[in-house]
Amino acid sequence: MPKLESILIVDDDVSLTKILREELSSVGYEVEVINDSSEALNRLNNEFYDLILLDLKMPEVDGFEILKDLKSKEYPGKIIVMTAYADVENAVQAKKLGADDFLPKPYDLDELLITIQKVLHS
Ligand SMILES: [Mg+2]
Repeated sequence: MPKLESILIVDDDVSLTKILREELSSVGYEVEVINDSSEALNRLNNEFYDLILLDLKMPEVDGFEILKDLKSKEYPGKIIVMTAYADVENAVQAKKLGADDFLPKPYDLDELLITIQKVLHS
């Protein structure tokens, strides 16, 4: 059996990540969740995921900081930024910092799945 593609969700919204984990697991991804952004920084020092779904607005360490950190160490996984503050400025900034794509919250599941496919296989 081929190895499942792995996704790490980094988001401080516990109920959202619970649902998202189920949705992504049910279509065949191997999913992990981190709700604490400083823990995410640590974990990403030595763990590889094919894709990271990254929330921008989090207490302590925000998504931009994590994005910068990942890019500075040339993290090989893909990154999709998701945020409720989906203004153009955030999208542009996230892309500038090296995010592979950007999605607004609340997300549309079909759109999210298409974007994940696209990002993982482009
Ligand atoms: Mg948040």
